[in-house]
Amino acid sequence: MDRLLFGTAGIPHSTKAKTTPDGIRRVAELGLGCMELEFVRGVRMNVAGATLVADVATKAGIKLSAHAPYYINFNAHEPEKITASQERLLQTARIASICGAQSVVFHPAFYLGDPPEIAYATVRKYLKEVMDKLRRENIRLTIRPEVMGKPSQFGTLEEILRLSGEIEGLSPCVDFAHWHARSGAFNSYPEFAALLSQVKDKLGRAALDDMHIHFSGINYGAKGEKNHLNFAEADLNYKELLRALKDYEVKGLVICESPNLEEDALLLQKTYNELVKTG
Ligand SMILES: [Zn+2]
Repeated sequence: MDRLLFGTAGIPHSTKAKTTPDGIRRVAELGLGCMELEFVRGVRMNVAGATLVADVATKAGIKLSAHAPYYINFNAHEPEKITASQERLLQTARIASICGAQSVVFHPAFYLGDPPEIAYATVRKYLKEVMDKLRRENIRLTIRPEVMGKPSQFGTLEEILRLSGEIEGLSPCVDFAHWHARSGAFNSYPEFAALLSQVKDKLGRAALDDMHIHFSGINYGAKGEKNHLNFAEADLNYKELLRALKDYEVKGLVICESPNLEEDALLLQKTYNELVKTG
């Protein structure tokens, strides 16, 4: 990527016909740069649909990523649930690849009471099998485990960076709202800067040149994430994050997951562009 692009998690609310191709065209009309295809409730797109999506996105100049189904747990205690989780990620990657998406994001696992080290080893083992299979199928898009917002969920920043460093083809999806909700911190320029430095130290400069970021306002409590909010209703310091992204010359996709989708995506893009202009 040569710069930072902003876009929506799914088709914008202001899309007239609620189809993926129309959503992509609407993203372009709004002046945004990317969109995440939401397969969160299952992969229901066929090859013909995906081919059309690829065509529309190329013509509109919109970059795509995809979000795998929520029903994935690479630390499930039943073998059939592991197999189903692997299958869901594989299915998403196959169809996303036809769509021309660059990345597939997924929620890796729940601890289910296991010590984090044990859960890590389990997640790593079964995820590695998926990556080996994708390589055999010559599917080369980037698979991105996401930083998660609840203490019951596998996916601290450290776990995600470690997985990304240990398995080829994996890179992080850094959800700054999740990490703020989970840690109660990471809401200031020095903290955002420290996080970006950590990514660079662990994975190299290339990781900052190809970041995938989820961002929104967030409501949270002792158990972490409760629900997403628009920036106007939330405490998340989006301006300071954008300033850190600019200073670290981060490139890649920023996907806005606020309930108002395109409104906050445009707010982020406008604020970021102003920061870049004023230096
Ligand atoms: Zn997610």
